[in-house]
Amino acid sequence: MARRIEIDPLTSLGRHAQHVNLAPLVRALREEAAAVSHGLRDRTVWMINSAAQGGGVAEMMPGVVTHLRELGIRAEWVVLESDDEQFFELTKRIHNLIHGEGEPHLSEEDRRLFERVNRENADVLQQSIRAGDVVVVHDPQPMPMADMLRENIDITTVWRCHIGLDQETPATTAAWRFLEPYATGYHHAVFSAPEYVPSWFEGRSSIIYPALDPLTAKNHPMRVQTVVSVLERSGLLRMPGPTTGSPFDAPARRFCDDGTWQPAAAADDIGLLTRPIVTQVSRWDRLKGFLPLMRGFARYREGLGGDSAASDDQGRRLGHTRLVLAGPDPDSISDDPEGRDVLDELCAAYLTCDSEVRPDIVLVAVPMQDAHVNALIVNALQRVSTIVVQNSLREGFGLTITEAMWKGVPVLSNSRACGPRQQVRDGVDGRMIGDPEDLDEIANTLRSMLSSDELDAWGQNAQHRVHEHFLIYSQLGHWVRLLDSLTGAAKAA
Ligand code: UDP
Repeated sequence: MARRIEIDPLTSLGRHAQHVNLAPLVRALREEAAAVSHGLRDRTVWMINSAAQGGGVAEMMPGVVTHLRELGIRAEWVVLESDDEQFFELTKRIHNLIHGEGEPHLSEEDRRLFERVNRENADVLQQSIRAGDVVVVHDPQPMPMADMLRENIDITTVWRCHIGLDQETPATTAAWRFLEPYATGYHHAVFSAPEYVPSWFEGRSSIIYPALDPLTAKNHPMRVQTVVSVLERSGLLRMPGPTTGSPFDAPARRFCDDGTWQPAAAADDIGLLTRPIVTQVSRWDRLKGFLPLMRGFARYREGLGGDSAASDDQGRRLGHTRLVLAGPDPDSISDDPEGRDVLDELCAAYLTCDSEVRPDIVLVAVPMQDAHVNALIVNALQRVSTIVVQNSLREGFGLTITEAMWKGVPVLSNSRACGPRQQVRDGVDGRMIGDPEDLDEIANTLRSMLSSDELDAWGQNAQHRVHEHFLIYSQLGHWVRLLDSLTGAAKAA
């Protein structure tokens, strides 16, 4: 039931300000907070979502809550919980429908289940919330809670929706029709793109870009030695000499030709430091487009023909490139049947790849037991990548893209998905393809990127873009302004 999450200490804004490229951003944020947050100081801002780990929302929550506190605003993070697996199957269906996928049908029985679990959570949460507080509900899973809490307590409510599709389909219509009754519980809504705002929130919604915290374990700068050490300790890299760190408790694993997952160190070295590496890191979700990416990469390799044996530098570069597809260790996603299916499909497709190509495709299971270790591994993997791909068929925003761009890595994504389109400028920060399922387009674009002299320039542009638009300082500034204006209005009413 609704559980308050203790957040591990994060790097303070004071420390952020010691970084020369972050100092002006922190200063601007502090000035903004000093000017507007007075109306908020007597209240608690409750952030509610449905997962403490995994995915972009859980990724952003600790930073938002911690830094709001530093700015003098009491903030808490609460996760909706339930033992009822059917609830999460239902909310996954709603999630997919909002992205335009699945049978466009949600029943009255679905509604009863949706409301029952939310009611159980609201009953627990209302014991902690006080009149005047602000409740920010993230995504559809806890959406009915606003109305339920407001039955007994006078609070200000905001719905923060991180997902959406920029077109209307029978699937999106079914999802929004199901959710619309809960919209009345909200004073305001926040979306990640104007295209996502349903008509019934027009006039009481704003756009806040998701953003990353540049000093978390997932994003903080790493010296070369640290990158090497993290990869070595996880088993993803073999080093000849003695190394300083002991192996992580749980190793990264690799999918092997005999159809089993084995500790990564048991298999051949991937060549993360010596080969061009193309990486996608995501949850094992069909909409992340892993399968067409793998097939597109295989086509790229097959298409090299004689080039793969070429002796010149460019030929070697093209021929030696490896694709790393990384996501949560399958043991950690037992509660995600769809994720398991997607991974099984991917593993099966891997086993049918041409034996010449297969060694150049690496499926990596990132250990999830320790969130800090998981973050360090993802950070290191992104840093050793020549290109980071996010081949999502749909994508609300795509923090993995932001993470790569911040590390100065050029991105390959597609303009069908709205989130990537907001971030990546084709030919400036990387390349955008038109269709994530067009294997030839993937293959040709990989080839042209890997042959390009622009890779470094794209990486620099990408980092610049994140610095300007997608770091937590501007995101927090938006939140502070919004919360202040909403509570100010509530006080006046
Ligand atoms: N992620 C991770 N380990 C994994 C796979 C993903 O830490 O094995 C993180 C990834 O670095 C990113 C987040 O999960 O921070 C995914 O966020 P994104 O917005 O890309 O997609 P979502 O999962 O929210 O759809």
